Amino acid sequence: MALSFDFPDNPSFLGDDVIEGVWDDPGFGQYFTDHMSVASWTVEEGWHNDRLTDYAQISMEPASAVYHYAQEIFEGLKAYRHADGSVWLFRPEANAKRFENSAHRLALPALPAEDFITSVRQLTALDARWVPGGAEQSLYLRPFMMASENFLGVRPAHSVLYVVIASPVGSYFAGGVAPVDIWISTEYSRVATGGTGSAKCGGNYAASLLPQELAYAQGCSQVLFVDAASKRWIEELGGMNFFMITADDELVTPELNGNILPGVTRDSLLTVAPDLGLKPIERPISLEEVTTGITTGAIRELFACGTAAVITPIRSLKNESGEYIIDVDKATHTIPLRNHLLDIQYGRIADSHGWMQQV
Ligand code: PMP
Repeated sequence: MALSFDFPDNPSFLGDDVIEGVWDDPGFGQYFTDHMSVASWTVEEGWHNDRLTDYAQISMEPASAVYHYAQEIFEGLKAYRHADGSVWLFRPEANAKRFENSAHRLALPALPAEDFITSVRQLTALDARWVPGGAEQSLYLRPFMMASENFLGVRPAHSVLYVVIASPVGSYFAGGVAPVDIWISTEYSRVATGGTGSAKCGGNYAASLLPQELAYAQGCSQVLFVDAASKRWIEELGGMNFFMITADDELVTPELNGNILPGVTRDSLLTVAPDLGLKPIERPISLEEVTTGITTGAIRELFACGTAAVITPIRSLKNESGEYIIDVDKATHTIPLRNHLLDIQYGRIADSHGWMQQV
């Protein structure tokens, strides 16, 4: 039976004065709404006890498996406020599908896509006053699932907790859409073939934190990971997919080879590319192709993309052997692509792909 995530009988809300200060500068993931969606799963009962509750601490015993073996997955998607005040989700079914794939890889139970979408819709509806209406603002939704069984044996947990929280957000990078410098990590890898690269699990991000710190130390704001085996092929950034635009108006991104997160933004950009005069291509991209292409002019633009930051232009790639700088002032496609996606998300142009779902 489908889960319903019903509203609580007497929902409590923070006073308007508490959230007023948030609108000026929500930042990213700092403030959380009044409620959360919750559901439990056990081997015996399957999914049950689905509900909306106050945003509150989760109580779990120290023996809970997630604390020890990181059996955990998550998602990230947004709700947007359109000019008429209505609230819309962008492609929630794509996140639901990815969540199912992540669950499979982490030996967690599948949450049916229908239930995932209901949990997100219900929370967004109950906390709709938290969906900001400012430029580039939105409500970021964070569904996650974790092993909650008190057991130290190493096997898939027999009880699991599913939660969705929501956070009003502005721009992901403190510098807005300013082009970023990227550090190429060859010392550390994010994932290996056969690993969890295409799953959205916490462990992947834990593994990316040290290389991310090293990138900061080099004056860069993100890390670019290459394949672990040959260090030759570009994979993705710590939290975004990688794209390049060639002098022939090709929009190229590494193919999904099992090591890369299948980004919803990535897929959306490949889909809209022809509308903007670009030819979408998924194929292996070598580091050498990019560094040479920047020098010869065969590669005109580089950017990273993801739900949080939409599209972020890349100004330079750096590693121990040098710095490869793109002339971002000559970029002609990156910002129109970014605006096109934002126009769909904020309802400023027709949603010809049927991606938006009204809450
Ligand atoms: N790669 C990684 C490693 C990510 O964490 C994200 C963010 N979810 C992305 C790519 C972009 O995915 P999406 O466009 O679905 O946000």
